[in-house]
Amino acid sequence: MTEIRLSNLGKDFASFTALADMNMTIADGEFMALLGPSGCGKSTTMNMIAGMLEPTTGSIEFDGRDVRGVPMARRGVGFVFQNYAIFTHMTVWDNLAYGLKARGTPRAEVARRVEETASLLQLSPLLKRRASGLSVNILQRLAIGRSAIVEPAIFLLDEPLSNVDAAFRAVMRTELKQLQRQFKQTMIYVTHDQLEAMTMADRIAVMDHGKLLQVGTPLDVYNNPQNTFVAGFLGSPGMNLMQGHVRQDGSSTAVDFGAHGSITVSDTAIEAAAAKSDGRVQFGFRPEAAAPSQDGALRFPVNFIERIGSRTIVHLGDPDNAIKIIVANQTELPRVGEVLSLDITKGSERFFEIESGQAVGRQSDGLH
Ligand code: ATP
Repeated sequence: MTEIRLSNLGKDFASFTALADMNMTIADGEFMALLGPSGCGKSTTMNMIAGMLEPTTGSIEFDGRDVRGVPMARRGVGFVFQNYAIFTHMTVWDNLAYGLKARGTPRAEVARRVEETASLLQLSPLLKRRASGLSVNILQRLAIGRSAIVEPAIFLLDEPLSNVDAAFRAVMRTELKQLQRQFKQTMIYVTHDQLEAMTMADRIAVMDHGKLLQVGTPLDVYNNPQNTFVAGFLGSPGMNLMQGHVRQDGSSTAVDFGAHGSITVSDTAIEAAAAKSDGRVQFGFRPEAAAPSQDGALRFPVNFIERIGSRTIVHLGDPDNAIKIIVANQTELPRVGEVLSLDITKGSERFFEIESGQAVGRQSDGLH
C-alpha cells in the first residue's frame, strides 16, 4: 500500500560506516528481501525505515513523502523481530487484539479480525491459551499475527524465522507469502538465508559490507550476478569461479585455464575486461551447469564425493581452482583421483573482471 524510496541512504556509527549510499525503490505491495551476511547493514537499513534510527545521509520517502523526523508510531509500519515481543501473561486472543484495542477499534470488529488472523495463522485452537505456555514456534507465529492484524501499510520483518526449527521455518515461508498476498502490504524481509529470500521475495536486494550490490528478481540475481560476491553468495554451493587467460586461437578467442583446458568465447567485452588485468579474466559457472562428458572442454581431478540426499556434490580441482558440480544420484559417480572432463551448458558461462569483480557484458547496473 506504500512505495518506499531510499535515496543515497547512509548510516555512520562514529567513524564506522554501517551503510553507504543506498538507492532503491520498493514498489507498493512488493515483497523485498534484504539478503546478506551478518553485519552487512540489513538491520541498520530496516531500523531507519522503521524510524528507530536516524539516517546520517540521504532520505527515505513513503509515497513521495520524506519521513525523516517522523516517529515510528506515525509511520504506519509493523515490525517483527528475531526475538518475538509477546505479552506472555496475556492469552493469544488478547495479544492479537492488543493493537486494535489500542487504536480504539470497535469490539465487534476486533473480534472479527482476531478470528480471521488466528485462522490464517492456524492459531484458532489456541486463542484462549496463555502465551507463557506456548512453544517458540507458536510465539513467533503469534508475533507475526499481532503485527499483521493492524494491517500496517508497511510490514518489516527482521530475521523472524531464525529462532524457529527447520520444519516450522518451511511452513512459515509459505504462510508469510500468503499473508502478504492477502494483505497486499509492502513487505521488507531481512534474512541471511538465501532460501528464504529466494522462495518468498518478489525481488532480492543483496548487500555486503554496508553496500547494496544488486537488486533483482530471485532468478535474475541467481542467473546474472552483477559481481563475484553475489555469484558466490547465492546458490548452495555458490558459483564456481576460476581465473583464465584470454588468448587468440586462430580466428577465435579462447579463455585458457592451463592444464584444466580452455573454452572459446565470442564476446568482445571479455577481451576488453581481460585487457585491464594482464589478459586475465574470472570465469564463473554454476555447479548444476556442468556435466561430466567424454571430451568436455575442462578437466579436473576428483577430490571427494559429498552425498547430500537427493543429489551429489562432486568436489574437483586444486587449491587455486576448487570446483564443485552437482550430479543426480542416479548418475554413475566418478572415482576419487580420476580426472573428470566437464561440459559447461551453453549460455550459462559468466565472466567477471579480476580487479573489480564486476560482471562483464551486462548493461543494467541492477540497482533500481
Ligand atoms: P546481523 O544479521 O548480524 O544483524 P546486519 O546485516 O543486520 O547483521 P547491522 O546490524 O545492520 O548488520 O550492522 C551493520 C554493522 O554496523 C555491523 O558491523 C554492526 O556491528 C554495526 N553497528 C550496528 N549498530 C551499531 C551501533 N549502534 N553502534 C556501532 N556499530 C553498530
